[in-house]
Amino acid sequence: MFAESVTDLEYDVPQDDPVEACPYCDRPFRDETYRIYHIGTVHEAVCTDHERAMFEAHREDEEFELFTFHVKAAVTVFMTYFMFTFIYALVWAG
Ligand SMILES: [Zn+2]
Repeated sequence: MFAESVTDLEYDVPQDDPVEACPYCDRPFRDETYRIYHIGTVHEAVCTDHERAMFEAHREDEEFELFTFHVKAAVTVFMTYFMFTFIYALVWAG
């Protein structure tokens, strides 16, 4: 019984788009952000301090965006709850 290989990546990036290639494994990326995430995760041990700093900065930005999304979602749920309670009270009072 042979172990199934999970490391051979297959990709098909159209060449007419601007392509950012990984300097360590030549894997193409459509956006530099994806390449920064790829280097920060796959090539964490060999990447330069600058690349690691870029990865940390992008990850902090993403965590902040996720936090903002959670706050917005919580406020939306609270406002919906408040609105229905208010309408219910109005109907019950009228
Ligand atoms: Zn790579």
